[in-house]
Amino acid sequence: MILPGSTIGVMGGGQLGRMFVIAARTMGYKVAVLDPDPGSPAGAMADYHVQTAYDDTVGLARMAELCAAITTEFENVPAESFQYLQDHCQVHPSPAAVALTRDRIREKSFLRDSGVATAPFLAITDDGQLDMAINDIGTPALLKTATGGYDGKGQVTIHSAADVHQAYQELGQVPCVLEKRVALAREVSVVLARNESGQSACFPVAENEHINGILDTTIVPARIPATLAQQARDMATRIADRLQYVGTMAVEMFVTEEGELLVNEIAPRPHNSGHFTLNATVTCQFEQQVRMLCGLPAGDTRLLSPVVMINLLGDIWNKGEPDWASLLVHPEIKLHLYGKAEARIGRKMGHFNVLHADPDHALELSQQAKTHLGILEK
Ligand code: AMP
Repeated sequence: MILPGSTIGVMGGGQLGRMFVIAARTMGYKVAVLDPDPGSPAGAMADYHVQTAYDDTVGLARMAELCAAITTEFENVPAESFQYLQDHCQVHPSPAAVALTRDRIREKSFLRDSGVATAPFLAITDDGQLDMAINDIGTPALLKTATGGYDGKGQVTIHSAADVHQAYQELGQVPCVLEKRVALAREVSVVLARNESGQSACFPVAENEHINGILDTTIVPARIPATLAQQARDMATRIADRLQYVGTMAVEMFVTEEGELLVNEIAPRPHNSGHFTLNATVTCQFEQQVRMLCGLPAGDTRLLSPVVMINLLGDIWNKGEPDWASLLVHPEIKLHLYGKAEARIGRKMGHFNVLHADPDHALELSQQAKTHLGILEK
């Protein structure tokens, strides 16, 4: 066990890194962050901010020297950097698990081989495969780049088979997956923590609504039958077991109109859809990340109150600083801002959680708060 007083580290200084730092420091750990950006949200909170590129050997050596164990806030840390760190200190989750989730072809093939249902898909690595593939998958379909896509970026919807070549061109003819676009009843996610002994603890299933491919609202408990929620947690646990995963991870799933669960993707880190845990569960997903990294048992994941989480994107800064007073007058609302200096369209600047014993009231209050902040058209 790595105990408070020790120094632990995180690769990446965005909002996920920041919330990890806050959780770790609350528990009495010292924290080092590697991020090249001098204004990074996590760097500002850390004991040590190593300001180098992710593949800089001096920066990596400094992290290894400072830290008893290191984790990551994002998938795209270079594989060689991870390998270097692993050779010098403890690293969780394993570089192999992170690498698998970085590539949609590998990730979806792994899910299929693990007996986990996904939307029907085919890997595309060459233009010559497109006609057969779209014939097999049918339309509507989605062509998604195998790597580098996030928040709905790096994907094109295909309405007619003839469009598939154009879509492949648009995406730069890089390796892709062609996926059937399924009719969704809901989107849900499961955030869980798993330790080295193989014990895992799932948070309650979250229901997610996206706008323009970016998460907008998370509702917990998800409005799905209890049996389906149990199935979702079992599926996420099976995936974590198969990956021999150590850390906090999230599994995004679709609920089809037929009531079937399909896994969309895995995030090898805390997840935006788990931010409700900052206020609504006994332990939050970032404390869980600290606990897993340090070889401690998982904390209690019990839900203390129904909750609605709303993301705050840079868009609402278009007329200057948003009207925070309109939020903060509500005792049920908990505001989290990430300390980012520049608000850009689509940039995640913060979120708020609305807690109320009546889930319908929490939702209603969240919609009112959104309207006041200019998120919804009045
Ligand atoms: P992704 O980048 O894979 O997380 O996709 C972003 C969003 O696009 C998802 O949250 C869904 O709303 C939607 N989406 C992705 N894949 C599919 C699919 N196969 N069928 C229907 N909707 C999808």
